[in-house]
Amino acid sequence: MQAETCGMCGGDGRIGNALGGSSATCPSCHGSGRRAEASYGFHDVTKTKPEHHRPPPAASTGPEGPATPEGLQLARDVSASTALTPDAKARLLAEIVNHERTHGRCTKTFLKKVRKQVRPA
Ligand SMILES: [Zn+2]
Repeated sequence: MQAETCGMCGGDGRIGNALGGSSATCPSCHGSGRRAEASYGFHDVTKTKPEHHRPPPAASTGPEGPATPEGLQLARDVSASTALTPDAKARLLAEIVNHERTHGRCTKTFLKKVRKQVRPA
């Protein structure tokens, strides 16, 4: 099966004279002289397999808040603090949860450290 001749240049890959005399590469076939691949019929070739859209893994980070009484109290203090910006509060709350997770509880040092920020001298 023969490739179809480019309809724009007639098969020689150039268009001459029409544009001021100089031969230019045919924009339709880019110089090949053949008709460009029919653009129709190009349905989605990339067969993107519908990947199983799994729901994002439920954040298995456990409870969102502190689990110990000290942590809860501390979190309340942080939330109620007027000295902290919302950003700082969020950071401290996350810190409390983190600390509990790694230490199993809130250490005295940690409580002190946070309380100092909650109620600056
Ligand atoms: Zn052409």
